[in-house]
Amino acid sequence: MDIIANFIDGQYQAPCQQQYIDNIEPATGQVYGQIPDSGDDDVELAVAAARKALPAWQLMPLEQRADYLIAIAQEIERRIDELATAETIDNGKPISLAREVDIPRAASNFKFFAHACSQFASESHAMAGNAINYTLRQPVGIVGCISPWNLPLYLFTWKIAPALAAGNCVIAKPSEVTPKTAALLGEICQKVGLPNGVLNILHGTGAMVGQAICQHEEVKAISFTGGTSTGAAIAQLLAPKFKKLSLELGGKNPALIFADCDFDSTLEQVFRASFANQGQICLCASRLYIERPIYEKFKQALIAKAQALQVSDPLLETSKMGALVSKAHLQKVLSYIAAAKSEGGVVLTGGEQIQLSGRCQQGYFLQATLIENLANSARCNQEEIFGPVITLQPFDNDQEALTLANDSQYGLAATVWTNHLARAHQLAENLNTGIVWINCWLLRDLRTPFGGMNHSGLGREGGVEAMRFFTESKNVCVKY
Ligand code: NDP
Repeated sequence: MDIIANFIDGQYQAPCQQQYIDNIEPATGQVYGQIPDSGDDDVELAVAAARKALPAWQLMPLEQRADYLIAIAQEIERRIDELATAETIDNGKPISLAREVDIPRAASNFKFFAHACSQFASESHAMAGNAINYTLRQPVGIVGCISPWNLPLYLFTWKIAPALAAGNCVIAKPSEVTPKTAALLGEICQKVGLPNGVLNILHGTGAMVGQAICQHEEVKAISFTGGTSTGAAIAQLLAPKFKKLSLELGGKNPALIFADCDFDSTLEQVFRASFANQGQICLCASRLYIERPIYEKFKQALIAKAQALQVSDPLLETSKMGALVSKAHLQKVLSYIAAAKSEGGVVLTGGEQIQLSGRCQQGYFLQATLIENLANSARCNQEEIFGPVITLQPFDNDQEALTLANDSQYGLAATVWTNHLARAHQLAENLNTGIVWINCWLLRDLRTPFGGMNHSGLGREGGVEAMRFFTESKNVCVKY
C-alpha cells in the first residue's frame, strides 16, 4: 500500500487528524494507496512554515532563486521514467503521453520561470515638472495553488513555478484523485535543497483542505484550475476577502473545419485534439463544425480513425487511449451519451464502456465516441463533458460557423482549419475565446497569455501575465 504524506516545512508529515482517503488506479479500479485527508490544522502548519521561510526567499538574489528552479527542473528530467509511471498509474493516461508531454512540460515550467523572473521588468513614467513614477512589483507573500487531475504535474507546476520565481512561498494542493507526482515533487525539493517552507504540498479534498487554503487570512492569492462551478464557489468565498484570484476553468471548445483545409493533416490534428488524454484536456476540441461539402468525407474518416483507436492498459508502451480518471467521471461521461440519445443524437461510433481483460478488467474505459444530429442547444453541445465524446455538425458559411462556435457560455479555446488567410484572421478576431489556434492545436509558447473568457475563467497565466499575477504592483512617485 502506497501511503502518501503531506510535505510541510521541508519534511514529510502525516495529517494532523490521521485521516486518510483511498487512492484508486483508474486502469484497474483497485485501491493502491492512501492520501492524507488534510484539514485546517494542516493548513495552519503549512502557513506557519511559509511565514518563516518568506523573508529570506523574498530577499534572495534572483539568480540564486532561479538556480533552485533550474535544479528542480533537472531533477524532474532525471526522474522522468519514475514520474511518468506514477502519473499513468494515478491518472490512467497512456505512459507515452506522460513521458513525452506531461513530465517534460513540468520541467519546462520550472526552467521557463527561472529565466522569466530575470527578464521581468517594471515600468517608469516620467512627468513634466521634474517628477518620475516607477513601479515596484513585489511578491504577494503566501499564495495558494490548486490544480485538477487531468494534467497533474504539468498544471501543478505551471502555477508553482511562477509563484516561486516571483518570490512567494506556496501552499499547493493537487487533486485528491491524482496526488502521486505532487507528492514526489517534495522529494525533489529536498534533493535540491530548496529552503524549508518555501513550497508546502497538502493532500486531501477540495471541500476540506482546498477550502481551508482559500480561506486562510494569510494566504493572499489563489491560483485555481478546475471546473467552472468550483471556480464560482471559490470566487464567492474570496470576494469579500479581496484576495487576488486567477481562475482557469472549463471549456467547450469548437473546431471550425473548412472545405479548403489541408484534409489529411487537419484530420490527423483534429482527431488528436478530440481524443488526446481520453478527451480530458481543457483545450480539447469537443464540438466539430464541418463545412458541408466535406462533411460526409470528414465524418467517415473520423469514424474510421475512432474505430481503429484501440483502448488498452495505459502502462503499455503502445497504448494511445487509456482509462478515464475515476468511476464517477466515467458515469458522468456515460450520462452525457444517454442525454445525447434522448435529445435525438445519433451515435456514429463508440458510446459504450469497454471491459478489458487481465489486470484492467475493472478499469474505467470508454470507446472514442462520435455523435451527430444534435441541435446546438443540446446538452452535449453546451455542457462540458471532459471525455472522449465529440459532436459533429455541418455548416454552410463563415457566419454560420462563427455563430455556432460563439453560442456557448464557455470561451477557452477554438481551432480554425482553413487555407484562406483572410477568413482565418477574421474568425480569430471574432471568436469569443482566449486562445485561437489556426491549422494547429496545443502548439504552446510559454510566453503567451493563457486562459479563457466568460465561464472559462478570469485572468491569464503564462509569461509576464503569471509574473504579474504573483506580484503586487506599487507605484512610487518622486519629485526632484
Ligand atoms: P474540480 O473543480 O473538481 O477540482 C479542481 C481542484 O480544486 C481539485 O484539486 C479539487 O480538489 C479542488 N477543489 C474542489 N472544491 C474546492 C473548493 N471548494 N475549494 C478549494 N478547492 C477545491 O476540477 P477537476 O479536478 O474535476 O478538473 C476538471 C476541470 O478542470 C474541468 O472542468 C476542466 O475543464 C478544468 N480544467 C481547466 C483548465 C484551464 O486551464 N482552463 C486546464 C485543465 C482543467 P478535489 O480533487 O479534492 O476535488
